[in-house]
Amino acid sequence: MELCRLTIHELQERLRKREVCSLEATEEVFKRIEEVEEKVHAFVTLTKEEAFEQARAADRRIAADEQIGPLNGIPISLKDIFVTKDILTTCSSKILSNFIPPYDGTVVKKVKDAGAVILGKTNMDEFAMGSSNENSYFGVTRNPWDLTRVPGGSSGGSAVSVAADECIASLGTDTGGSIRQPAGCCGVVGMKPTYGRVSRYGIVAFASSLDQVGPLTKDVTDCAILMNVISGYDPKDSTSIPEEVPDYTQSLVADVKGIKIGVPKEYFIKGTDPEVEAAVQEALKLLEGLGAEIKEVSLPHAEYGVAAYYLIAPAEASSNLARYDGVKYGYRSPESERLLEMYRMTKTEGFGPEVKRRIMLGTYALSAGYYDAYYLKAQKVRTLIRKDFEEVFRHCDVVITPTAPTPAFKLGEKTEDPLQMYLSDIFTISCNLAGIPGLSLPCGFSKEGLPIGLQILGDFLKEEVIIRVAHTYEQSTDWHQRRPGGI
Ligand code: GLN
Repeated sequence: MELCRLTIHELQERLRKREVCSLEATEEVFKRIEEVEEKVHAFVTLTKEEAFEQARAADRRIAADEQIGPLNGIPISLKDIFVTKDILTTCSSKILSNFIPPYDGTVVKKVKDAGAVILGKTNMDEFAMGSSNENSYFGVTRNPWDLTRVPGGSSGGSAVSVAADECIASLGTDTGGSIRQPAGCCGVVGMKPTYGRVSRYGIVAFASSLDQVGPLTKDVTDCAILMNVISGYDPKDSTSIPEEVPDYTQSLVADVKGIKIGVPKEYFIKGTDPEVEAAVQEALKLLEGLGAEIKEVSLPHAEYGVAAYYLIAPAEASSNLARYDGVKYGYRSPESERLLEMYRMTKTEGFGPEVKRRIMLGTYALSAGYYDAYYLKAQKVRTLIRKDFEEVFRHCDVVITPTAPTPAFKLGEKTEDPLQMYLSDIFTISCNLAGIPGLSLPCGFSKEGLPIGLQILGDFLKEEVIIRVAHTYEQSTDWHQRRPGGI
């Protein structure tokens, strides 16, 4: 098999046995990128020279029999939201289109210390706001399963780079579904860890009480490997959890006997594509056959999740994005002569329409007289959603739902109707509001050949049980081995 198609654990094995070297693997991945990038546009920036340098260093460590890290010589991509030292970090926005950070964020440092080779920065919805990757200043990313369709978002570039074998694995961020939904659309595995499990230091902030970093990978084993590398307490992130990190690869056991799976009745809603529903029901049957117990549960406040999220996330964004004023870094409007005019022009020219919409929504929700009616109410709904999950996890180990109501939609299909776009997040958002972990993995294909995602949610810091259920399911299916044929 071509090296670019391998998973982390497969490539690790070959590197360890010295059958191949990291430089060869990295060269092959770049060859693949050259072949398909024009069609899919998964990257904003490629860092070829740096990657070759890192690959050579990884090979030297292997040759010298040094102690090597868990990602030694593995080519990965990073969503362009990760702050990377000396490498352009745009968040797919014009306002950061010239921003070269002077430092690496914690997760970037961790993957570098683990020996990874960084291929480049992937395209995304501007400031991670979107579900289709159509909100990028650098143009759309296309779904490798059907180039007329969206890859999902906002970590669409990361999901595509994994699905199209333009990397071995990738890292993204998830504020309301931005890892899981594109993973579902592109037929790869994506995990949002518990809020606070992974450091947010050096991630461009969108909605700080919801943002979380996580892996996008070709299988569940790789997800566990990356979780081991990126998780852990970080004094530089005040919301990071000071808890020991378990070895997630220990959860890669194919056994769900006695596992209790909750299926929320509110999640099989009108508007869910029948093929999606059928694939999820099929997956549940399979897990039941393997010894899991399926129970119907209720998450009565789930239906208010989208409304609460689209108040809380924009409110936090309106505050986080106030820093882009053209003064200290990033884009500055060249035209203006006076300070206030410079602020106004910089923001007017630098932000795209969806980002402006969010800033206005958020500013409105936080303004005097409306705060109680909107923001405060949304926070109360958030508490109710968290309590719903607390109740369910008293007697269930995991909750299973579709990742999204439909497979990947057509490019342009929802751009004129933000509400329709927001509804793509209907199944993923509650998990962020509750702060719990969730994972999406492929569970079938539509008649049109589009991947369908299965979402597994777990209790606070219970990533291990999610990984175990996901791995068991994956071992009994071959969805994860399929690759888009058309590109
Ligand atoms: N699609 C959601 C939004 O537009 C989620 C984005 C995310 O998770 N970053 O806000």
